[in-house]
Amino acid sequence: MVADVIIETPDTTTLVLFTGNDRLEYHAGHFLTIDPHQFEALQRFTAFLEDLKGKRELPRAYSMCSAPHERYLAITVKEERYVSGQTKFPPLLSPLLVKRTVRGMRLVVTGFTGPYTLPADVASQTDHVVHICAGSGSVPNFSMIKFALEHHPKVRHTLVYSNKTWDDVIFRDALTQLAAQHADRLTVVHTLTRETDESLFGASIRRGRITRALLGEVIPSATEPLFYVCGPGISKWDVMAAKQAGTTAPPRFLETVLEELAALGVPQARIKREFYG
Ligand SMILES: Cc1cc2nc3c(=O)[nH]c(=O)nc-3n(C[C@H](O)[C@H](O)[C@H](O)COP(=O)(O)OP(=O)(O)OC[C@H]3O[C@@H](n4cnc5c(N)ncnc54)[C@H](O)[C@@H]3O)c2cc1C
Repeated sequence: MVADVIIETPDTTTLVLFTGNDRLEYHAGHFLTIDPHQFEALQRFTAFLEDLKGKRELPRAYSMCSAPHERYLAITVKEERYVSGQTKFPPLLSPLLVKRTVRGMRLVVTGFTGPYTLPADVASQTDHVVHICAGSGSVPNFSMIKFALEHHPKVRHTLVYSNKTWDDVIFRDALTQLAAQHADRLTVVHTLTRETDESLFGASIRRGRITRALLGEVIPSATEPLFYVCGPGISKWDVMAAKQAGTTAPPRFLETVLEELAALGVPQARIKREFYG
């Protein structure tokens, strides 16, 4: 049951879920899945999209923003947009979860799973985890940071987080609060690509995209930290659209960051990634 609905940003909502279970077995970074077929309000739209696409609509994955030691289970969903001339179909599930879900609503979630988690012995592998995220890509990392600050006291974290504007930053106040509480163990550097308020910029809020120079600055050593990169990457739809146009899909956040990390000499084995298509 949806116990609470928290509006994080204009297009992003956290759904706090009450499951009736006292303890839930999941790891920070895990996701659950939600099948759109369960929503009466979406039935006609789902059937129409399935006809257009010629295939059944699959359950969608959502990472937990809550951490296993917290009392509640929560997911944070960013609404996908339909952009005329750019997106082939309107998004099915995220607009309902973000804009039309209210307290008391019941939904079936399936979970929990996913490889994007911290190793149980993280402290024996490193004393520094670097999180590089964009948009809703911060969701599993937020869970991991909260969990690790609580359970791995010898590990510090740097989060480099890219958004369009200051108002688009998900968990903005919670991150500021956590960084203040754990000043020696959590550093957050925001990068904003379309912010117009010049007064915001400074050491912890930078202008533009995540660049090699910025990564070089926040990573004192390329080989010692573990890296967790999460955000939009080239989707199979991007590949198909580019193929039809006779071009190749341009790199998105994930591909760009992975290329910059490789250029800085970060070994592949030290990087974990999660892709939000
Ligand atoms: C492991 C994992 C974890 C995730 N965690 C989160 C999270 O924490 N928060 C979050 O907000 N999101 C998360 N996502 C993304 C989420 O699962 C959904 O993809 C997102 O919410 C969009 O779903 P939708 O139903 O709204 O849009 P969809 O209906 O899936 O549409 C999305 C886009 O795909 C295009 N598309 C769909 N089908 C086709 C087709 N047949 N041909 C061409 N184009 C097509 C549409 O045009 C649209 O542009 C995660 C994804 C993964 C894989």
